[in-house]
Amino acid sequence: GGSCYDETMCKHDTPNGEVDVECPDRIRFIWEKLQLAGVTQRCVVLGGSKAEDKHLKLVHTKKHVNFVKSISTKQKDSRRNRIASVLDSIYLNGGSSEAAYLAAGSVVNVAEKVAEGELDCGFAIVRPPGHHAEADEAMGFCLFNNVAVAASYLLNERPDLDVKKILIVDWDIHHGNGTQKMFWKDPRVLIFSVHRFKVAGNAYVARYDHGSFYPAGDDGDYNMVGEGPGKGFNINVPWEQGGCGDADYLAAWDHILIPVTKEFNPDIILLSAGFDAAIGDPLGGCCVTPDGYSVMLKKLMEFAQGKIVLALEGGYNLESLAKSSLACVQVLLEEKGIQCSSGAYPLESTRRVVRAENRELRYNVFADSDTLMTSNENLKNLSADKNPADAILHEVEELKSLWAARDGELEARRKELKAKKMELETWLMLVGAREDEFRGLRAKVESLMRERDEAVAKAECLDKELQEERPRRRLENEEMDMDSEDEDMDMDSEELEHDLKTMSREFKKDINLVFEKFKKDNELFIGELKKERELAITAAVITTRYQVCREWKSQGTLSLELKFAAEVYHKLPLFD
Ligand SMILES: [Zn+2]
Repeated sequence: GGSCYDETMCKHDTPNGEVDVECPDRIRFIWEKLQLAGVTQRCVVLGGSKAEDKHLKLVHTKKHVNFVKSISTKQKDSRRNRIASVLDSIYLNGGSSEAAYLAAGSVVNVAEKVAEGELDCGFAIVRPPGHHAEADEAMGFCLFNNVAVAASYLLNERPDLDVKKILIVDWDIHHGNGTQKMFWKDPRVLIFSVHRFKVAGNAYVARYDHGSFYPAGDDGDYNMVGEGPGKGFNINVPWEQGGCGDADYLAAWDHILIPVTKEFNPDIILLSAGFDAAIGDPLGGCCVTPDGYSVMLKKLMEFAQGKIVLALEGGYNLESLAKSSLACVQVLLEEKGIQCSSGAYPLESTRRVVRAENRELRYNVFADSDTLMTSNENLKNLSADKNPADAILHEVEELKSLWAARDGELEARRKELKAKKMELETWLMLVGAREDEFRGLRAKVESLMRERDEAVAKAECLDKELQEERPRRRLENEEMDMDSEDEDMDMDSEELEHDLKTMSREFKKDINLVFEKFKKDNELFIGELKKERELAITAAVITTRYQVCREWKSQGTLSLELKFAAEVYHKLPLFD
């Protein structure tokens, strides 16, 4: 066997380092895996070969070939991104053109060597992939349809090799729309593609696949069987849902592909080997194991004297891609014992699809196939069996919806609790603010009461002073009158009397001033206290509320705060 790898195909990459699933590491990973496993030493290793334009033009238009040829030139640098942006799932850079020529040329080269008998079989580890590329259009990561170019080359350019019938098996999870169109009317090429497919109007399925799966056209349906002389030579097995595994693929193999291949008896088999149905693939959503691929490949190696060529298509979980590729190479080198996983049953939808396909085939070119008839009988028996996998699947679905309902309930409860928590937090904040407010007011009331007490004491003191002052002044006045009479009654009596009157007037004036001032101060102070009384009442009310809150919380007895508030409240009317 031979394998073909060329690092140059890694030059095809996103233009600005964007991350893309169809990345250069895909083929690097495969190659490293093969080297680590030592299989590259035991097979013929071929470098890449550049495709010739005339071979590409066997399936592509001249315009398309020129487009891919010129896409990486300097002149296209400024326009390349814009050109790629109008295409469906295509990126382009300076290495795209060379990689596309190498991918197509390498598959042609390996196919030629296998057809010639120079190699028993081969694996072309190439990218960009090819099966979506149409005659005049690049799409779905594909620039040239590598496998179609190789098939057409063997049939049309190498009559000497006597290749008259080619079976193309496409196990990539996506429909090989390009390959199908290229050999639509050609009975020399039997195409078998198994892929996920949109199912219109089926709500159950739409829930899984949202009604579509790339490339999302109607081309991948099971009733697309070819046309004219090619009618019946195009076989689609459209999976209705993800989750297909080894058992589903083997059901399609045993009940469709293998009986049909026996009937068709190909001279060589080209395998569009995409590994995106492999377990863990981010696009495929299926779960074919490396062992599953081994069995599928081994079953095909029974035909065409084992002349089989694998050409890499998709496959985007690097680890799964590399493991599946290694398993296939080991089968090609016949180094691997085949393990068929027993006990697994195909999905109900798989049996439905396979039955429909089987029926379709018997109405077409393989109508008289005994093997197909037998296979269909076997299939009926398989369906009649009670399938534990379906029962478990059904149970799991029910549990899932139950969990979803519980999740909804829990979510609602969580929201409710969150709202209550927020309410409580707001309330606590409010209580805290009122507590501070209350403390401030209490301090103010205390200081006001102190001032009032001082003012009252001062007023009493002044009153007492005044009481003592009045009789004393009167006595002094009398004494002075007597003295003046005694000493100089004649000379100074008038003058003295005048002085005394003045003094008395001034003294009275002073006393009045002091008294007026005191009265005024006292009135101002009392006015202020009256104003503050309103605040004190508010404080008392708040204290009571606060206490109620405290009571609510601790169920304790009335606190000092409440007593204080009551006292304050009762003292205040004194100023009325
Ligand atoms: Zn694919």
